[in-house]
Amino acid sequence: MEHINPSVIYRFDTRSSRPCEFCRELDPHFPERRPLDQMVAISRKAIASAHLTEDGYVRHRMLELRRMTSRAPLTAA
Ligand SMILES: [Zn+2]
Repeated sequence: MEHINPSVIYRFDTRSSRPCEFCRELDPHFPERRPLDQMVAISRKAIASAHLTEDGYVRHRMLELRRMTSRAPLTAA
């Protein structure tokens, strides 16, 4: 167990994670994120703290704040 490869720990695991619906809906740049930054833990709601990465967490929080301040739906084209 002394030779733990970080890439194994942070492996993209579709069994325990899924794309964040909240970010997918509100972030126009969602597809440009790194795969891990799109994912939330499968057992959690689509909330910022469920994100697997700090970058994903921050982007989710920014979307929440933007929605709070703008009041207008971001999806309205
Ligand atoms: Zn999210």
